[in-house]
Amino acid sequence: MVSPGTLRLLSHLEDGRIEECGPRIDEETGAVSYPAAAEVLDASDGPPAEVLERLAGRELLEREFEEKLYRCPDCEAEGLGYTTACPACDSPHTVETELLEHSDCGHVAPHAAFETAGEYGEYVCPGCKEALPSFDINTSNYRRYVCRDCGERVKRPAHRLRCQECTRVIEPRRAIERVCCRYFLAETGERFTETQLRARESIVEALEAKDFDVTIDTTVPGPGGQRRPVHVHAEEEFFGDQVVAAIHEWPDADAVSALRTATQGARARPLLLTTSGSIGPEAASLAEESDVALLTLREDGTLERDYETGAEPSDRTTFFQRLTSAVRGA
Ligand SMILES: [Zn+2]
Ligand SMILES: [Zn+2]
Ligand SMILES: [Zn+2]
Repeated sequence: MVSPGTLRLLSHLEDGRIEECGPRIDEETGAVSYPAAAEVLDASDGPPAEVLERLAGRELLEREFEEKLYRCPDCEAEGLGYTTACPACDSPHTVETELLEHSDCGHVAPHAAFETAGEYGEYVCPGCKEALPSFDINTSNYRRYVCRDCGERVKRPAHRLRCQECTRVIEPRRAIERVCCRYFLAETGERFTETQLRARESIVEALEAKDFDVTIDTTVPGPGGQRRPVHVHAEEEFFGDQVVAAIHEWPDADAVSALRTATQGARARPLLLTTSGSIGPEAASLAEESDVALLTLREDGTLERDYETGAEPSDRTTFFQRLTSAVRGA
């Protein structure tokens, strides 16, 4: 089902008013938005990012990977920075330090701790207090990450992400990952949009032929006084007749209830057009119950008061792929 707002978005992409829907990342908060999509979609369509993802899932839009963003699981802020941290206490205050080990007693301490000028020489082991003639002979040195908070010494620090908002240090796998993409109209989406718009035009022509004043992509007052977006609204002055029409590739029960709600507020007759010629069984019985007139768009662009009940048309891409391979094979 494609809502009026979604069809508006698709048609803007189709005629080039919108070239693509790219993400905008707020520099302050790190929040991701899709301004081009948000501008044309209706509030009732839900979050633009979800609409775009759904359309991409239906292969109507193509997505191109932009970047990945990570959100803090504790405060939900975006903007996590990479940090090395202490594997024992998660403190990011670990410093790579050169350590010396006194071979005789096994005491390990930072280089500087041995440098104390002792009674018997320049270098003294801080563990056993033995004077050392030379570092080279009596000590072995290595580098360790030393935690300034808990004293832990490790060869390799842990990889962590630090939230710039709540300063929490978290394991990367705990972060909420978000993939940001740019969205373009796919070839299948282009064909789909053309069909939906042609179907809408057919309804407009049919209603105008019956002396209706027709408005496309408009709103009607809903039951709660809130205006509802509809594909087509038509009014006939003489009898005060009103029609609200919805166009769907394969109307489901949600499409029927949305249309019903829209017509209740406007006291209009509901008209439902299927561009695939098919409608879901649940939607069909719901339509029958609520006197929704069902129409089918025929290939020549004419409308027919007939429809089939059946499952959602099989995957569009597979169908087109089949077509393509058939052409290639010929
Ligand atoms: Zn020692
Ligand atoms: Zn530590
Ligand atoms: Zn946080």
